[in-house]
Amino acid sequence: MQAHLENQIAIVTGAGRGIGRAVCQALAAAGAQVIAAARTRDQIEGVGREITTAGGRCEAMPVDLADEASIRKLFASVNDRFGRLDIVVNNAGVGRFGPVAEFSTDDLDTVLNVNLRGTFLCCREALKLMQPRRCGFIINVSSVVGFKGYPHQAAYTAAKHGIMGLTKSLAVEAQEHGIRVSAVLPGGVDTELVAQARPDLDRAILMQPDDIAHTIMYLLSLSDRAHVDQIYIRRRTSAPF
Ligand code: NAP
Repeated sequence: MQAHLENQIAIVTGAGRGIGRAVCQALAAAGAQVIAAARTRDQIEGVGREITTAGGRCEAMPVDLADEASIRKLFASVNDRFGRLDIVVNNAGVGRFGPVAEFSTDDLDTVLNVNLRGTFLCCREALKLMQPRRCGFIINVSSVVGFKGYPHQAAYTAAKHGIMGLTKSLAVEAQEHGIRVSAVLPGGVDTELVAQARPDLDRAILMQPDDIAHTIMYLLSLSDRAHVDQIYIRRRTSAPF
């Protein structure tokens, strides 16, 4: 089944490159009006141009997930501009890696603020717009380290486990308001972030951002009768489970 998202308003965070860019393209191809959000204006505007050139609809809106005021402004701007919000893909994420014994407090704060606090605040702002209409879909991008743990990734892993706790609790809470919440937990995808986290991995064996975009589109294609809480998607060359 294909997702048909004509006239749906969709925010994607971390939209300037990697997985977020692919998700924007897939949403737009399914007919959604996409809002591409991240800090680097050139990148989100580039995604917007790619999509509009291909006949889709996408606007770039800058946001810094470490800054609550910036997040509030993004959601308020979307509401002012479109009067509604149907889909949020909380994809933005940042990596800082290294052994715990040498890990700086600044790096810990950055990872937790952007990846966990930022995702929480985006969920909260999304709910304010979705609850009155009793519909909406929130998809949080966690990671394989949302349930596993690898060395030198403790802060990132703690944030991604935190996203799972947030998602599980919110899914129950939001269901009463007619809102769906799911998590996607990818393994290695060929992006800038993984090049930094796992320089040991051969890029040829990694998934591509489109693989994650397809997974998100699958979630959005489900009938009103069905819901998938979480999907772990891994590269085929990694160990099962
Ligand atoms: P990426 O290519 O580095 O893209 C990350 C995106 O997040 C960029 O658009 C970046 O834009 C944005 N971002 C970072 N800090 C931000 C902030 N403070 N405010 C707003 N946006 C911010 O990485 P990716 O691999 O596509 O990662 C996307 C998501 O997938 C992340 O949540 C990551 O943890 C998750 N993930 C990735 C993998 C993988 O193997 N690649 C595996 C599992 C999960 P700006 O820097 O311009 O703001």
